[in-house]
Amino acid sequence: MDSRQYLSFDTSILYRASQKHFDRIFARFGLGYGQSLFLTYIYENEGVAMSKLADLGNFDKGTITHSINKLTELGFVEVRASDSDKRVKNLYTTSKCQEVINFIYLERQKWWDRLFQKVEKEDMEKYFEVSNIIKEEALNAENEIENENHLRIFGIQKLTLLDYPGKLATILFTGGCNFRCPFCHNKSLVFLDEDSSELNGEDILELLNKRQGLIDGVVISGGEPLIQEGLVAYLRKIKDMGFKIKLDTNGLLSEKLAYLIDEGLIDYVAMDIKNGPEKYAMTAGVQEVDLNEIKKSIELLKNRAIDYEFRTTIVDELHDVEDIAKIAMLIKGAKHYYLQKYHDSEGVIKKGYHAPSNDKLNEMLKVALKYVETAEIRGED
Ligand code: SF4
Repeated sequence: MDSRQYLSFDTSILYRASQKHFDRIFARFGLGYGQSLFLTYIYENEGVAMSKLADLGNFDKGTITHSINKLTELGFVEVRASDSDKRVKNLYTTSKCQEVINFIYLERQKWWDRLFQKVEKEDMEKYFEVSNIIKEEALNAENEIENENHLRIFGIQKLTLLDYPGKLATILFTGGCNFRCPFCHNKSLVFLDEDSSELNGEDILELLNKRQGLIDGVVISGGEPLIQEGLVAYLRKIKDMGFKIKLDTNGLLSEKLAYLIDEGLIDYVAMDIKNGPEKYAMTAGVQEVDLNEIKKSIELLKNRAIDYEFRTTIVDELHDVEDIAKIAMLIKGAKHYYLQKYHDSEGVIKKGYHAPSNDKLNEMLKVALKYVETAEIRGED
């Protein structure tokens, strides 16, 4: 096998063999290979911020949280809030760590001695030098790809008291959508003009950083944020600042939604339910809609421990009372459902729609309340 052709394969063999070896050796302490790496780093950098660990090897937050939870459960590590900023978590080793740390160092050294026994000392040094260069380039390449796929933000509202229940928040509007709802009042985000001005995501992060303590959260709206390649990386940066995040979504990409929930990147989701099944595609302005995706997203929100609401923008020409019964059946048992009264505006995709009467809305509300825990009307005159 030509090793130049199978570099990734060889690297993977080295990693897996090391992992298997150390998992076995450290099992007596309840430690895995990955946790031993974090433990030694914390031991050598007492008080390191938890968020800093992610930067060491572009680890995702889930991996870090899982490893640190394990190390604290085992009594090797303590997590303490920083004195200067309670949202920053600092990591310290405990006296129990002393029982294992030297064992880890010695076993680590023994393993690499074994692997390099047929390699000359100067070749070994060269190997470390070269692998360090390659590692740096791999991290750079990963960051470059991440930057290419950055979150495309086209609007910002610096302060809202209404869009994140119970919180002061900033709203960011992403560009592009996988629906084309005719009553949508964000036409300029859905049909992006060629000369649309994209905002600089780094400047926005700087602004958010300055607003720590002034706002509680950030709302990611659109357009449809889940179609954005750079969403995950950007949400991590916002989360690292300690903000709560609300996501506005049409729920068509259930796997992406599940990923954000699993990674702890969103705290509240507002999902649009466009209409009953037969009228869904027409109301979303597309030829067809995969309703299974919508149903999966509904179940995800209902079954995972996360705050959420379902909502429907009620347009007189598109919704009647029977439609609301069908929607309410789709989301049966939901905690919160909002019927949002449509209001005409300059920015709508298709003109000519009208708001429903308050009587019609109240009739719809009565029907919805048969199926969901709480329902309310928003935007009533
Ligand atoms: S209402 Fe929402 S889902 Fe519909 S087109 Fe507008 S942004 Fe997209």
